[in-house]
Amino acid sequence: MKMYDVVIVGGGIIGGSIAFDLARRNLRVVVLDRQEFMHEASWAAAGMLSPAPDCPAAIPLVPLGRASLALYPKFVDAVKDASGLRTGFRTGGAIEVICHGEAERELSTLVALHHGLGLACEPLPLDEARKMEPAIGREARAAALLPDECSIEPRALSVAVQAAASSAGATLLSGVEVASLAHDGKKCAGVKTSSGEIYHAKEVVLAAGCWSSQIPGVEPYAPTLPVRGQMAALRHSGAPIRHVLRSERGYLVPRGMESPQTVVVGSTIENAGYEKRITSGGIEKILSAANELAPELANAEITETWCGLRPGTPDQLPILGPVDVDGLVFATGHYRNGILLAPATAKLIGEWITERRVFLDWDPFSPLRFTPANADRSATA
Ligand SMILES: Cc1cc2nc3c(=O)[nH]c(=O)nc-3n(C[C@H](O)[C@H](O)[C@H](O)COP(=O)(O)OP(=O)(O)OC[C@H]3O[C@@H](n4cnc5c(N)ncnc54)[C@H](O)[C@@H]3O)c2cc1C
Repeated sequence: MKMYDVVIVGGGIIGGSIAFDLARRNLRVVVLDRQEFMHEASWAAAGMLSPAPDCPAAIPLVPLGRASLALYPKFVDAVKDASGLRTGFRTGGAIEVICHGEAERELSTLVALHHGLGLACEPLPLDEARKMEPAIGREARAAALLPDECSIEPRALSVAVQAAASSAGATLLSGVEVASLAHDGKKCAGVKTSSGEIYHAKEVVLAAGCWSSQIPGVEPYAPTLPVRGQMAALRHSGAPIRHVLRSERGYLVPRGMESPQTVVVGSTIENAGYEKRITSGGIEKILSAANELAPELANAEITETWCGLRPGTPDQLPILGPVDVDGLVFATGHYRNGILLAPATAKLIGEWITERRVFLDWDPFSPLRFTPANADRSATA
């Protein structure tokens, strides 16, 4: 009989980081993934570590994002110590460039919004912005510096987290598809695989990204849906870009400081089901945004294009915590922020499973917010 303290469904950055945390707490942990680990959204991500909200719906996420960013330096050190591998973590900030609309008014709104949320953000005169980043183009009308933001190389981080979890004692099994939850009376007591094997556990952590909702019985708690994002990597020989550069239309994330330099550019936000397809319209959109931000990239070589499926949710917030079924815990729906939120998610789930307390208020992210009882209550409130 396969018996563990915890079974984690899904070996992306979320499942892997939770496994690393729980294994260090001396629990017997197994992570099951139906394919190679870290080959879905976590592999596709750009790697911006930005707690700033990208729309009003994301404002409740800011405290969790800030907490996770603060955990990052220790998290990457621990991953590096356990795995011996690099993660490409970089501090140094991001520059937000405004190219359209009433730039000065948008800049004041941006700065005020950030300050109101406790995030550092200062207006950056364009001549200073260009001294810091000569690549910034003539279309720029205003700019702001977000000095605390960081970035990471998601593929390097993913490989390192996987190795770290394994060296801390977690068992990682690829090619094992979870077909359903296994119950013992009302309690969740493990999972059943598509080949009929049962993995018994005291706790099951659901971390299957946008596919979480496809596991029978999970959808009422985790109505995740895929949101496609297309990306491209460019190699250019100009002066290396040092900061993450963002505009209303897209972003650039530098990888390394050597010349020729690789810059990752993105991304689209598409409701295209589970189809992972790169389209000419998608690539045209992200390249034109990149070329507007940094026109010399028009001469860069396109070295790779790819896409991934973000785990979206109806309210754009993650799905974290226990439900009304004992032994079942959720860690999914991280949408556009799963790389940023991995350290805080791992800490929250680790604390909940071992101590039944957590370091910050995670009620806004409870899976129970989607269940009919709560939907009815909010409808009559
Ligand atoms: C283009 C793009 C850019 C992004 N940029 C950023 C960024 O800059 N910063 C940031 O913070 N976030 C970013 N994200 C978001 C981030 O990548 C995701 O939120 C995060 O990777 C989600 O991790 P996950 O482990 O939940 O899901 P995934 O990485 O998708 O992993 C889920 C895993 O579950 C497995 N699985 C599914 N069903 C089953 C089953 N039944 N049985 C067994 N295994 C199963 C899958 O095979 C997969 O390996 C980006 C995403 C995309 C697509």
